[in-house]
Amino acid sequence: MYKVVIGLETHCELKTSTKCFCACKNQFGGEPNTQCCPVCVGMPGALPILNKTAVEYAIKAGLAVGCKINEYSVFERKNYFYPDLAKAYQISQLEYPLCVGGGVEIEVDGTKKFIRLDRIHLEEDAAKLVHSKTGPKVDYNRGGVPLIEIVSMPDLSSAEEAVAYLKKLRSTLLYLGVSDCKMQEGSLKCDVNVSVHKEGEPFGTRTEMKNLNSFSAIFRAIKSEAKRQQEELEKGNKIVQETRRWDDVLGKSFSMRTKEDAQDYRYFPDPDIIPIHVRPNYVESISKQLPKMAQERAQIYVNDFGLTEKDAVLLTDDKYISDYFEAILQDFNEPKFVCNWMLGEVFKKLNALEQEDTEILISPQNMAKLLKLYKSETIGQSVARKLLDELWGTDKNPEEVVKEQGLTQMSDTNQLEGIIKAIMDENPKAVQELKSGNNKTMAFFVGQAMKKTAGKANPKLVNEIVQKLIK
Ligand SMILES: [Zn+2]
Repeated sequence: MYKVVIGLETHCELKTSTKCFCACKNQFGGEPNTQCCPVCVGMPGALPILNKTAVEYAIKAGLAVGCKINEYSVFERKNYFYPDLAKAYQISQLEYPLCVGGGVEIEVDGTKKFIRLDRIHLEEDAAKLVHSKTGPKVDYNRGGVPLIEIVSMPDLSSAEEAVAYLKKLRSTLLYLGVSDCKMQEGSLKCDVNVSVHKEGEPFGTRTEMKNLNSFSAIFRAIKSEAKRQQEELEKGNKIVQETRRWDDVLGKSFSMRTKEDAQDYRYFPDPDIIPIHVRPNYVESISKQLPKMAQERAQIYVNDFGLTEKDAVLLTDDKYISDYFEAILQDFNEPKFVCNWMLGEVFKKLNALEQEDTEILISPQNMAKLLKLYKSETIGQSVARKLLDELWGTDKNPEEVVKEQGLTQMSDTNQLEGIIKAIMDENPKAVQELKSGNNKTMAFFVGQAMKKTAGKANPKLVNEIVQKLIK
C-alpha cells in the first residue's frame, strides 16, 4: 500500500493599486505593455522602491493563518533567464521571509486535519508570454505585480485534501480582501509537489507540476501523478526529481526538465532594497484591522438569524456568497427563507454552471424582489425557479417580468376548481386511486394542474380543492 505525500506552493497576486517595486498600475486586462516603466522592465539605472501596502497585505495573510511575522526580512535576487523576466532575476525572499509557521485546518469527509505552513514570502510576478502565430510575445504588464507564495509542509495526503486546503486558503484570502483570487485570470495558482512511498519507508523522490490554476486540474494532476509514480515503482523503475507539465486536456503530465534546487538560482540579497524591519506595534495595528472571517460570520448567522450551523457554514464558506446573502437581507430581512433559496436554487444553478470563480448574475436587489414575490405567494415555486433562469445575466425587474408575462400565481378558487374537475373527468382511474386512500396520486393532480396553468396554479389550493372534490 502506497502513501501519497503532497506539498503545495500557492502563488497569490496581491490586489494593491500599484506594483511591488514601482508606481505602475496593477490591473488585469490592460493593453499589452501599457502598464510598465523602466523599473519593472529592468532598464539600467532604474531603482526599485518597495510598496508598503504589499508588505501590509502579506502580513495580513500571515496573521490570518497564524504565522509568526519576522521582525527582520530580506529581499533576494533569484537569478535565471527566461523572456518573461526582463532583469534576468526575480526579486523574491529565501533566507529571511516575511512570515513563517502557521497552518490551516481542513475537513475532508468529516475528518479534521491541520496542515502546517512552512512560510509565506513576498515576491514579484513575472511577465506573461503570449504565443501568437508570428512567435512568442511578451506582455510586461504583469511583471512586477506583488505576490505572496504560501508554502505548505508536506502534510497533505490526497487530492481531496489538497483541494480542501486550497479552498480554505482561497476563502481566507478573499475574506481578508488582499487578493481577488481569480483562478481563471491567474491571480491564484499552485505548484504541486507529489511523492509516494510504502508505509513505514522514508519519503520518496518528489516531482513538481507548476502553474495549475483550477481546482479540478489540481485534483486530476495529483491523482494522475501519484498513480504514475506507483506504476513506475512497481515496474522497478526509479522516480526522477523533475518538473513536469500537466496537460489538463489530455489528462496527462509530461517530463519538462530535471528539477532545480535553490542553490542553482544563486540567490543573493538585493543590494538595491534595504532589509525590512517590521516593528511589533505595526503588526499589532494590522492585527486589529483584520476583518470578520468565515467562522465569526457563521456564528452570527447561527446566533442572530437562527440558521443551523451547517447552513451557516455553507453560506459563509465563500465571502462572495456571504456578502450576497447579507445584501439580500438589506432589502428582504427573512434570513431563513433567503438561506433556503440560496442553498437550494442558487447553489444548484451555480453548480450547473461549473465556474471556478463564483458569480451570481442577478443583483441582490432584484433577487430580493423575486423572493418577496415568492414569499407572498404572488408567484409559485416553479415560476420562481423559471424567473431565476430568466433574470440571470440581465438587470430585468422581476416585478415587471411577472406583470408582463402574467405569471402571477392562480389563487382563484372557482377558476382552479373548473380546471381540476376537467382533469378528474379525464382521469377516472386516478380519482378512484385517490378515493381508495392512495395519497401519492395527489402529486399527479398537482402536476397536471401545474401543466394546465403553465406552473401558475397555487399548489396548496389545488390540494385543498382536490380533497374537497373527492369527498
Ligand atoms: Zn513599473
